[in-house]
Amino acid sequence: MKKNKKTIIRADEMGFCLGVRRAVGTLEEAVNFEDSEVYTLGPIIHNPRVINDFAVRGVKTVESPEDVPSDCRVIIRAHGIPPQTREALNRRGSLVMDGTCPKVIASQKTVRKYSSLGYHTVIVGDPDHGEIKGLAGFADNPIVISDPEEAGNLSLKGPVMVISQTTIKQDEYDRVCHVLKEKCADLKIVESICSATSKRQEALKELCTRVDACLIIGGKDSANTQRLYKTAQDTGIPCWYIQDASEIPQEAAGYDIIGLSAGASTPDSLIGEVEERLRSM
Ligand code: SF4
Repeated sequence: MKKNKKTIIRADEMGFCLGVRRAVGTLEEAVNFEDSEVYTLGPIIHNPRVINDFAVRGVKTVESPEDVPSDCRVIIRAHGIPPQTREALNRRGSLVMDGTCPKVIASQKTVRKYSSLGYHTVIVGDPDHGEIKGLAGFADNPIVISDPEEAGNLSLKGPVMVISQTTIKQDEYDRVCHVLKEKCADLKIVESICSATSKRQEALKELCTRVDACLIIGGKDSANTQRLYKTAQDTGIPCWYIQDASEIPQEAAGYDIIGLSAGASTPDSLIGEVEERLRSM
C-alpha cells in the first residue's frame, strides 16, 4: 500500500520581524568589528538559540549599565531603553550601537512630545516588559496599566495621552481606551500597535483552517510567540509550543497536514530545522 506523504505548510507571515532583524543585524555588525568586547543590555531577543550562538562568539549579556565596561561596544535591543539608561552608558564611555526598532523609536518620540506638552502619559502594556520600561522613561510621572479595570481606577485631571506596547492585541487596547474615554474629557489616543504581531496572528488563524495540527516555534519567554500559541489553541486544532526541533512531540508527527508558525524572534534556521525533522519523523 502506498504511504501518504506528510504535508507541511508554513504560515504566510512568521519569523523575524523588521525590528528583530535590525537588532540582530546590529549585533552581528558589532561582533564583526572584532575591536572590542561586545555587550547587550538584556537578551538581544527572546530566543535561547540565538542568544547562545552569540554567547559562543563572545557576546555578553548584562542587565544594568553598571555592568558594562567602558571600552566595549554595547548593543541596545529592539525594545529600546529609557533615556536615563542611555545617559548612564554614555557616562561610562561605552560605544553604544542602537538596535531599537524604528516603530518603538516612534512611540518613544510620541511619549516625549505629549509629555512635554503637559499631557498625563498613560501606557498600556506589561509593566515588566523592556519596551514599557523604556517608553516610561520618556515621560514625566507616567502611569502604566495593563487592563480596563486598572483604567477604571485612574483619577486624572487635565489632558491625557494614552499609548500602548507595540505588541499588545488591538481589542485589549480598544477596551482600555473605551474606559478612559468615559473618564477623561481631553484624551489623545495614540495608535502604536505594530501590525507584525497581528499579521502573524491572522495568518496563523487562516493556516489553522487548512491543517490537521499546528506547531508554534519560539522561545518560551517570547510574549508574541505565547500569543501565537494562544491563537492556535483558540481555533481548536491540536497544537504544540516548541523551542526547537528536539521538542517536536511524536504525536504531532502522526498528522498528515501540519502547519508551522513562529514568533517574531525565531530565526529562519530554526524553522527550517523543525520542518526537516518533521519530514524525517
Ligand atoms: S514586533 Fe513590531 S514593534 Fe516589535 S520589534 Fe518587531 S517590528 Fe518592531
